Amino acid sequence: MCGIVGYLGEGNARSIVLEGLKRLEYRGYDSAGMSLYDETEQYFNVYKEKGRIQALESIVDMERSPMGIGHTRWATHGKVNRENAHPHRSADGRFTVVHNGVIDNYSKLRDLYFDGHTFQSETDTEVVVELIAHYASKMPSQDAIRKVLKMLHGSYAMLVIDALEPGTLYAAKYKSPLLIGKSDQGIIIGSDMMALVGTADNYLPLDDETFVRITRKNFTQYDLDGEVLPYTMSKLEMDDFTSEKGEFDHYMLKEIHEQPAVLRRIISKYFNETHVHIDERLLKTIRQHERIHILAAGTSMHAGMIGKELLESLAGIPCEVHIASEFAYQQPLLGDKPFFILISQSGETADLRACLLNLKKANHPSLTITNVRTSTLAREADHSLELHAGPEIAVASTKAYTAQIAVLAILAYSMSEQTFDLKRELSEVAQAMEHFLDRYESVETLTTNLLTKRNCFYIGRGSDYHVCLEAALKLKEISYIQTEGFAAGELKHGTIALIEEGTPVIAIISNDKTAENTRSNLSEVKSRGAHTLTITFESLSENGDEIVLDNINPSLAPLLTVIPTQLIAYYAALKRGHDIDKPRNLAKSVTVE
Ligand code: GLU
Repeated sequence: MCGIVGYLGEGNARSIVLEGLKRLEYRGYDSAGMSLYDETEQYFNVYKEKGRIQALESIVDMERSPMGIGHTRWATHGKVNRENAHPHRSADGRFTVVHNGVIDNYSKLRDLYFDGHTFQSETDTEVVVELIAHYASKMPSQDAIRKVLKMLHGSYAMLVIDALEPGTLYAAKYKSPLLIGKSDQGIIIGSDMMALVGTADNYLPLDDETFVRITRKNFTQYDLDGEVLPYTMSKLEMDDFTSEKGEFDHYMLKEIHEQPAVLRRIISKYFNETHVHIDERLLKTIRQHERIHILAAGTSMHAGMIGKELLESLAGIPCEVHIASEFAYQQPLLGDKPFFILISQSGETADLRACLLNLKKANHPSLTITNVRTSTLAREADHSLELHAGPEIAVASTKAYTAQIAVLAILAYSMSEQTFDLKRELSEVAQAMEHFLDRYESVETLTTNLLTKRNCFYIGRGSDYHVCLEAALKLKEISYIQTEGFAAGELKHGTIALIEEGTPVIAIISNDKTAENTRSNLSEVKSRGAHTLTITFESLSENGDEIVLDNINPSLAPLLTVIPTQLIAYYAALKRGHDIDKPRNLAKSVTVE
């Protein structure tokens, strides 16, 4: 889940690697480090620091370097401290490694090979670098690295420097993403496309179990047996990946505000004048199957729950939603002819990748819905649909969630016999989003007055309940207030015991069939002292409702009702002085299982 950047060429590796790390910092930000080659001293310096890239930058005393590697960590093995930060260097000083991922069998390897050796860190990575050094004393370094790679269980994106070959960098990948970029100036390698922007003209996403030898001008790709693998690079379209905070104080606030524009972009990408254009082969394949299984995690799973409702109600296809990390190792009975939809903002979610590998083995057809068209899951599934949401930098997802729902709605619609004009309905949602966002600052006062306790409840029914789950996750992620999303009718079956004087309860009411019931549930908690807030639509509103949204097609309500909840989370975190874009313990794309 961390970020990796490496550079070799005529440019300045110091600035290229640091800039790349800053762009990847949202992927992991416990600690950071880098190694730079000092041409005069003919030595690879290592710098590392706990905390953010700025802390690292302040200790890097070299101004220029032709070659370097860098890392921003999301700790999996060992505390967050300087010793455990990457790069890690072998005790003989020869090899330096940065690694993203988890080596599951590291303790077995450590005990087998290094009994009595004192390691400098608690990481799995240090065992790998020692193993490479161990074998490199007996064989060429390339062979040693490949031999070690074959011994590893788990996941890795890795860069390796051999001090005896200062003009060469080695890279390897298994289950964690790694892309290589090229220009006339040199070669850059990164765990995310964002790192390559501005330095590379062309790029190649590496496949699993590839091993790459990089020099200043070129690189050669091998399999783990040393056979050369041919490759074709693609042109890097810069515009797709640029991202600035602009007038906003935080990426999250910017991304919340981008949602109407993202929705319009999705409309323009998926509709021509009147018709949806989704690859007919995909639609045909889905039609040939009896049940859809949506696999996802976190926010994407919450979008999947809305997707299930849309696929069932619009297209009449039975659909189930599964937590990817559960499905990967405890596959339920699937019935005949299952079709799979994998939803992942980054397209790199390790839990989903584990599922996809199983699905492919069983020859089940799959579709990935993702924001990154070059991602592993997009490349490896049979079909993919892009979110067109643009880079989402804030760790707490906002615009990717609404984009996922919009794309799922378009897919469901294109599978259905419906005659209503979805294109127009979605445009109206974009307008209603904008209308609400014009007065977004009012949410700040509501939030300050309401969220005074260390817990909170969101309640709703049907799709509102599913939005409540997402709203609760958002509030937890960035404000650290313990929040539960609850099916409104279920509260009285136990959890209402937690309601006391001042407990905040926020209701989402978008459905005329259940509006009265949810209002009754709200009044039950109010009688027990809860402080309440209601999010609803004009047509359902009553005196005293705090947030009233423009009417839209009810089946698309989640696209709009979620927006005030995103702002509630934002202002709650702002008031508490938290780091909104980089909340504690989290990282943007979860590339470890
Ligand atoms: N497992 C390694 C560690 O804990 C790498 C973690 C990461 O991907 O940042 O240091």
